[in-house]
Amino acid sequence: MRPTPLPESASRPVVTPLSPSVVYASDTPDMLDAQYDGDLHGYTYSREGHPNADVVAQAIDRMEGAPHLGVLTSSGMGAVSAVLLGLLKAGDHVIGGNQLYGRSLRMMAEDLPRLGIETSMVDPGDVDAVRAAMRPETKMILVEVVSNPTLRVADVLGLSALAKEAGVLFVIDNTFTTPRAFKAFDHGADIVIHSLTKLLSGHSDVMLGYVAARDKATNDRLRVFTVTAGMTPSPFDCWLAERGLLSFDLRYDRAQATAAVLAEHLGGLKGVKRVIYPARHDHPDHARAEALLKGQYCNMVSFEIDGGRAAANAFARGAEGLNFAPTLGDVGTTISHPASSSHRALTAEKRAELGMSEGFFRVSVGLEEPTALCDVFSRAVEAAVG
Ligand SMILES: *Cc1c(COP(=O)(O)O)cnc(C)c1O
Repeated sequence: MRPTPLPESASRPVVTPLSPSVVYASDTPDMLDAQYDGDLHGYTYSREGHPNADVVAQAIDRMEGAPHLGVLTSSGMGAVSAVLLGLLKAGDHVIGGNQLYGRSLRMMAEDLPRLGIETSMVDPGDVDAVRAAMRPETKMILVEVVSNPTLRVADVLGLSALAKEAGVLFVIDNTFTTPRAFKAFDHGADIVIHSLTKLLSGHSDVMLGYVAARDKATNDRLRVFTVTAGMTPSPFDCWLAERGLLSFDLRYDRAQATAAVLAEHLGGLKGVKRVIYPARHDHPDHARAEALLKGQYCNMVSFEIDGGRAAANAFARGAEGLNFAPTLGDVGTTISHPASSSHRALTAEKRAELGMSEGFFRVSVGLEEPTALCDVFSRAVEAAVG
C-alpha cells in the first residue's frame, strides 16, 4: 500500500521538492494512454523524464532563449554524444573545431569513424578552412566559442553564415562562455550544448549536461535518443544543479571580474612569459572577442612561466590553497597543467605548436578575494622561477 500520501498543507514549499520516484502512478489505462500520446502531461518512468530534470532544463532554456524544453543528460559528454550519435548516421560527415574538449575530440577521432561517420577537425577561427573541409555529405559543424586552454575565439558569425548557406546544423558547445557571456541561439546556433558540471552548477558536486535544438523535431529526436540510450540524470543531481544555478549570475560576474584583475597582475610579474586572456589587447582574437562577447571575457586565464617541468612542479606546490585539478568553474580557483593532463597524449613538438610548453598553466578563477588571490600567484611564480 504505497505511497503514504503527503500530509496536507495549504502553504507551499519555497524550494523545489526532490522527487526520486522512478515510477509515477496513473489512475487508469485511459489516463496512461493519454500521457503516452502526449494529450495529457504526466511523468511515467523517470528515465523518460522527471520533474527535477525539467525544472533545471527550463531554467537553462530561459537563459539561452531555447524555444522548446531542453534535454538534461547525466554529463556534458552525454549531451555531446546525444548530438553526434543521435542525429548522424553512417555516411554522414561532421566538422569539429580542432581544439574541442578532449573527450569530444576523442569521439570525433575514434568513435564516429568506427560507426561510419566521417569527421574533419578544423580551426574554427578560419572560416575559409572550414568551407574547404565541407563535403556534400557534411551534416553538422560543432564548435566551442572559446577554446580550451589557449582561449582562441571561434569565428561564430562566419561559421553560422556558412552553415546556413550549406544547410548544415550549426552546434555550439557553450560550456566555457555560458549564456551570461554568449547567447548561442541569437548567434545562429541550431543546437546548444552545456556541461552543467562546470560554471552553471558551479560547486564541483554535480555532473550533468544540457542540450536544446531550435527545431522542434530535432529537439524531440534528441530527447528520444537520450531516453533510449539511458542518459537521463538522477533527480538529486538535478536538484543540486538547480541550487547552483540560483547563484550563477553572481558567481560568474565575480569570477570574471577577478579573472581580469588576475590577468593584468600576471602580466606584470617577472618570470611570466605571456598571459592569455581575451580582454587583453595582445590576445590574437581580441577584436573578435570584443564583438562577440560584449565585454564578458569569462573566468579562464592561461599563462606561461619560464622553465620546464621542475618550475611547473614548484609553481603548483607554491600555489597555496588553490586546487591543482583538471576541471573548471568551481567556487574555488583551480589550476590545470595541460602538458601533464588534457594534452599529455601529444608529443612535445605538437604541444609547442599549440603554444603549450611545460610552463603553461590554465586557471579557472573562482570566488576568492582578488588581492589575496593575486598574492598567491605572486608567491607561486616567485617560488617557481624566483
Ligand atoms: C567539461 C566539458 C565537457 C564535458 O562535460 P562533462 O560534464 O565533464 O561530461 C564538454 N565540453 C566542454 C567545453 C567542457 O568543458
